[in-house]
Amino acid sequence: MKKIAVIEDNPDNRLLVRVMLESLYEVIEYETGFAALEGMPHQKPDLVLLDISLPELDGGEVLRRMRAHPALRDLPVIALTAHAMAGDREKYLASGFNDYVSKPIVDEEVLLAAIKKQLSERPASVPQGTVSGRPLEEAAMERLRRLGGNQFAGEMIALFLDYARTKIAEAKQACTAGDYAGVAKAVHPIKSSAGNVGASRVQEVAARLEQAGRALQAAEVRRLLQELEAAFDEVKPGLEAERKHCESGR
Ligand code: MN
Repeated sequence: MKKIAVIEDNPDNRLLVRVMLESLYEVIEYETGFAALEGMPHQKPDLVLLDISLPELDGGEVLRRMRAHPALRDLPVIALTAHAMAGDREKYLASGFNDYVSKPIVDEEVLLAAIKKQLSERPASVPQGTVSGRPLEEAAMERLRRLGGNQFAGEMIALFLDYARTKIAEAKQACTAGDYAGVAKAVHPIKSSAGNVGASRVQEVAARLEQAGRALQAAEVRRLLQELEAAFDEVKPGLEAERKHCESGR
């Protein structure tokens, strides 16, 4: 079984990627760039999935250090990012990544195709994911169940509810302190977590809030932060019910 290293600080994204890959590959998880750079030479992977937004060392810096390391320099590295802006793909390829997959990973076939391409295996067909304006996508929950069963789907919901609650509180604190870049940083990981469980509106508002925060648009940040809380409150009861359903139905 080929080994894939996953360097990603979000626990829910690590779990999701593990469940998507573990029947095909041995998955080795790292929470930080430092841990990965220390561990990978001893347990050399065949391919690396590297989150761009990591604490301490960001993904770009981890890649730079890998390319300078004799044992790691030739490994294929796929960037995982929730930025997903026009021109991102070209930017990441130009900076030395072998490929790029945007988060949330709506369809595991997209990730598998990118991995297989790098490992020179036959790529699977790549269906397109869709996002609608509905607050909660039932398709996302069905996908999670199909991937890892009821217990896994319930766990993903619990992780999202806890994570979003923590990050929204952090964003509010930063907003009160006038730290709008801090608001952007706090809400950034909510996008992919929300996408994982199909909370489309939370995902969309978090993305707009992140942009407003980066642009230091104070009034817009305050408005969108309220909208984000409202969007989160809107999906909480449905997700709580879904989680209970998952736990009783396994
Ligand atoms: Mn991250």
